[in-house]
Amino acid sequence: MTEHVQKCGACGEEVKGELYHLGFSDMDAVYCWDCPNVLLIKDHDFFEKNGITFPHLMPGDKGWQEYNKHMLPYYKEAEKLFPGCGCGGSFRFMAPPRCPKCNDYLAGKDKDYGGKPYYRYHKYVFVTVGSVYLENGRFCEST
Ligand SMILES: [Zn+2]
Ligand SMILES: [Zn+2]
Repeated sequence: MTEHVQKCGACGEEVKGELYHLGFSDMDAVYCWDCPNVLLIKDHDFFEKNGITFPHLMPGDKGWQEYNKHMLPYYKEAEKLFPGCGCGGSFRFMAPPRCPKCNDYLAGKDKDYGGKPYYRYHKYVFVTVGSVYLENGRFCEST
């Protein structure tokens, strides 16, 4: 984890937080749809244990859809396993990171993933206001 400062593409303010490399920490991250909170999934077989196996399809494979849209129904199922966010919203795979100052997308206004899972494959997660984690099958609030 490293300290990180990023300029918000929507409001132009500097946003401070911590950057985690997902590959090195062997985890996945899912942002809240409505606020900058993030769910860190440190339990790497969590989905499999709950009966969800994400397909790893390459272009040309049977069932593959452009921009990996074949992932969307799997995301929907997997999201049912998540706790609600403290803001009253929900953690969703297709939620882009939000700015803690203006609450718009950090990448800029209207810069969501356009329903294309391909664009959500990120190497890092940016934790700005807080996170909830999932470890050993349990959800914990981080302080
Ligand atoms: Zn902002
Ligand atoms: Zn939230």
